[in-house]
Amino acid sequence: MEKELVMGIDVGGQSTKLGVVNAEGEIIAQTVISSLQQELIDYINELTKAIKGLIAETNKTGKVKGIGIGAPNGNYYKGTVEYAPNLKWSYDADGKPTVVDLAALVKSFTSLPVTVTNDANAAAMGEMAYGVARGMKNFIMITLGTGVGSGIVVNGEVVYGHDGFAGELGHTIAVRDGRQCNCGLKGCLETYCSAMGVRRTAQKLLATNPEAKSPLRDLDPENISSKDVYDAAEQGDQIAIDIFKTTGQILGRSLADFVKFSAPEAIVLFGGLAKAKKYFHDDLVAAMEENQLQIWKGRIKVLYSSLKDSDAAILGASALAW
Ligand SMILES: [Zn+2]
Repeated sequence: MEKELVMGIDVGGQSTKLGVVNAEGEIIAQTVISSLQQELIDYINELTKAIKGLIAETNKTGKVKGIGIGAPNGNYYKGTVEYAPNLKWSYDADGKPTVVDLAALVKSFTSLPVTVTNDANAAAMGEMAYGVARGMKNFIMITLGTGVGSGIVVNGEVVYGHDGFAGELGHTIAVRDGRQCNCGLKGCLETYCSAMGVRRTAQKLLATNPEAKSPLRDLDPENISSKDVYDAAEQGDQIAIDIFKTTGQILGRSLADFVKFSAPEAIVLFGGLAKAKKYFHDDLVAAMEENQLQIWKGRIKVLYSSLKDSDAAILGASALAW
C-alpha cells in the first residue's frame, strides 16, 4: 500500500516553512519561501508552487493526503488568518490587515484538505507529539519570536475557545500603561519579551546608561537583534546581561499569572530568544516563584523546546492533517 504523508506549513512574519512528514513524524522533505510579499495573490502563487514542488519531490515515497498550516491569528474553526499585522499580504486596499480565507485558497489550488491553526498552537502540538511535552496533558507553550505567541494545552487538547482564537497570552498586560504594542494596547508582554521587546529594552538601557561602554552602541538601534544582544553578553557586556535579566524578570512574572489560569505541569519556551536561556533563566524562575501561589511554588517546570526551530511548527501543523 502506498505510504500516507502529510504536509505541515509554518507561516512566519519573515518566511514560510513547508515540510512533508511521514507517519513516524520525520520531515522527509522541506523548503522555505518568503512571507514578505505585498500582494495576497503573489504569496498564494509562491506557496502553491512550493507545495506542488514538495509533493512532486516525495511522490515516490508516498501520497500527501492533507495540509496543516500554522499561521499568526490562524483560526482553527474557520480556516482563516484574521487581522495579522505582521503579514503584509493580508492587508486590504486601505492598508489595514483583514481576513484571508487561507484554507479555502490553498485548497482551491491543491485540491487537498487544508486545516489552519494559530502558529503557537501548532508549535504546542509539535512539542506534545515529538518534543519535551511528550506525554504531558497540561502545559503552556510560549513562543518567543518576532512577537510572543502561546498555545495552551488542557487535558491533552489545544484550547481554541469559543471563536478559535484562545491563547493570546502575548497580549496580556505585563506592565500597566507600559510600552505601546502593535495591537493597540499598552504594556503587552510582547512589547518586552519578544525580539522587538529585547530591542526596545536595549535602546532604553543604552539611553539611560550613557556612560556605559557596550558593543551594542556600534549597531543601528533600530536593527539590534536578540542574537546581537546574546553575542554582546558572551563578551561580558553588562548592558546586554541586564537586557536579558529584565526580560527574564518580566516574563517570569507573567508566567506566574498564566499558571494560575490552567495549572500546567510545565511551561515550554520556544523561539529565537529561548536560545539565550542561560542569561535569563534564573531571573525568570526567581520572578515566577516570587509571584506564585503557595500551592504551585517550586512545582511548575520551565522547559525549553528540544525541537529545531522550524521543526516544531512544521511537525505540529502537520499533526492537524492526519
Ligand atoms: Zn499587544
